[in-house]
Formats: sequence, structure tokens, C-alpha cells
Amino acid sequence: MTICSNWSAAARHANARDVWEGTTVTAGKRSPRSHYLQRVRPHPRSDKSLSSLRRVGFRLSCLPVLLALLTGLAGCARTALPLESGRETPIAELEPASLAAGEELHVVVTTTVAADLTRAVAGESAQVTSLLPAGVDPHAYEPAPQDVRTVAEADAVFINGLGLEEFLAELLANAGGGAPVVSLSEGIQPRALEDLGLGEEHNGEEAHSVDPHVWLDPVLMITWADNIGEALAALDPSGSSGYRERASALAQSLESLDEWIRLQVEALPPESRLLVTDHDELGYFADRYGFRVIGAVIPGYSSAAEPSAQELADLETRIQSLGVRAIFVDQTVNSQLAERVAEDTGVRLVPLNTHSIGVLGGGMPDYDSLMRYNVEAIVAALSP
Ligand SMILES: [Zn+2]
Repeated sequence: MTICSNWSAAARHANARDVWEGTTVTAGKRSPRSHYLQRVRPHPRSDKSLSSLRRVGFRLSCLPVLLALLTGLAGCARTALPLESGRETPIAELEPASLAAGEELHVVVTTTVAADLTRAVAGESAQVTSLLPAGVDPHAYEPAPQDVRTVAEADAVFINGLGLEEFLAELLANAGGGAPVVSLSEGIQPRALEDLGLGEEHNGEEAHSVDPHVWLDPVLMITWADNIGEALAALDPSGSSGYRERASALAQSLESLDEWIRLQVEALPPESRLLVTDHDELGYFADRYGFRVIGAVIPGYSSAAEPSAQELADLETRIQSLGVRAIFVDQTVNSQLAERVAEDTGVRLVPLNTHSIGVLGGGMPDYDSLMRYNVEAIVAALSP
């Protein structure tokens, strides 16, 4: 095993995984080797991925992706597989939940961001439970045994959709029951793999690879607010007027947040609006506010993938030639590779909180504070 000081040299005789496995364990952090093994080596998720793929009509064109996952090869394993339930109910087709007299609607929501926005619309009229705890990377989440019971007892399950919840199909199968699954991203046109410029290179994968990070664009969250309001109103018609009023109030606060972000970003010269992230998570944000995504340490929509050494070398070349000022890393993901790229290029590593609220010792209690924290960090890091 050879440890190389730069990725170009590494690419000549090893792949990134070899280099990664050669890194030393940092005290207080997960071992990069064990982290890698947890994410990429065949494990129970591979088995459930197979059954999930069968249910959603897995296409033969994706076979190389699956083989790469099963064998641990780097190749195509870097893109997010949209293993959704195949059980989503369109919001317009939702039926009222079977509630006993006086019983409250109980909705299980997958992510902390989705739970926060759903609670804002539910008010005191419905119970909302977040499946993922605070500070957890949703791309790498492995359901806990109690999650099965939580889902089994729900009247409905609200999800981010767009392939974020890779654990979902297996969880729903284990939970059984007939609670409808609602994709909060219904009606949003997703970014696709070709937006990364990888469509041709990964021919056949792009149809399965859309960007799930819609929540990092507050304007798209107005669609969520509307979807949440309509879904709750359909599930619990007795509270429909309240749900719709609160959805409207949420939409207004999201518009205010959007205006605030525009004001912050105006302080940045357009040529400074260059983003490099740990995985490709800020595409919707970049599209909305005039940033250019230069690249990602993991060039895919999931943190649970890996780049080749050549891709890392190319990224370092772009960072240096374009004068990129910072690499942004979400605090829920392993930052080992990003740290190496930052070290090689002499660029600052800037922590963001893009995937979970409730982190930083409770200093980020809701979606609004999450977005403001990230925007302030981005603007500060990129200011000339
Ligand atoms: Zn992500």
C-alpha cells in the first residue's frame, strides 16, 4: 500500500481507496478505513438494495452499478441510487386517515429538515416524528430496530424523495401496514447527473441519479410547504383550514429567507461565487443564487460513494487554476478526503451544516437557522 502526497501520483498506481486505506486513524474520529468499509463494502444494505431494485423494476442498464457496489469497485458506485419505496401516493390521491374520535394524526417524517417544516404546518393539530436523529448523514443512515415500529404505527410517512432515503424500501417492507408514503418533493423538477457534466461518462446511470438536496433552496421549500399543507389537509380534513393557513405562513417566511439570502450574496462579486463541496450538495442553492459549482471531492449526489484518484487530481487542478478560496464540508459526513484536498491545494476547509438541524449544541434549532448559518459561512469564506 503506497501513500502518495498528491492524487496525480496516486492515480498512476493506486486508486483513491488504496490511498484512503493507507491514511492513519485520527484520534476522536472514525477510522477512515472502517468508515470506508461501512459504506462501500458489501453489507446488509446490498441485500436490501437488491430486493428494493426488483420492486421498482430495476433496469439492466444499471447492472454495472450494482456489480460495482457488490464487488467494492470504485467505477459507478459514486452515484446515489434512488431506491425509493415505489409506494408513494400522489398528494391528490390521499384519503383521510382512519382516526378514532379525538385521535391525533401521526406523521413520521424521514429527515430533521422535513420534520421541522412539517411541524410548522402541523401546529398543534398533528403529531410529527422525525425518523433520523439530529446530526446524522441521511445518505448513510441505517434504520434502528425501533424505526420499524415507529413507521408501522404512523398514519403517513413523509419523505424527501429523489433518492435520498436509500434505506426506505427495506424499512417499509419490514414495517408492513398501509400508511401512505408522501414525497414532499412532488412537483419539483430535479437536477440530474448530466448537470454535473458526467452524463456521457456514466452512460446509463443518469436516469437513476437525480439530486436530492432540494432543501438547500428555500424557494423550492415553498413547494414543500404547499405539499405538506395539502397532504395534511387530505389526511385530516377536520384540520384542513389550519394546515393551509400555516402552510401559507411558512411560505411567507421562506420568501423572507430567500430575500435575506439574496441580500447576503449580493455582497459577493460574481467571480468569487465558486463552490467546492465534499459531495455535490449545493447545486440547487448555486442555481438559485448565482454560484458556480466547480466540483466536489465526491463527484456525486451521495456522500456514500468514492472518487477515483484521477478525479481528485483533476479537482485539485481546477481549485488552483480558478483560485477557489474554500472547500465546504458538511459536519455529518467524513471529511478525511476533503482535508487531504484542502491540504494539497492550500485552500481553507469550511464546515457547513447542510444535512441536519439540531447540531452545534442545539444552536441550530430549525431550518431557518440552518440556512442562515450556511449562507453566512459561505459569504464570509468567499469574500475577497
Ligand atoms: Zn447530501
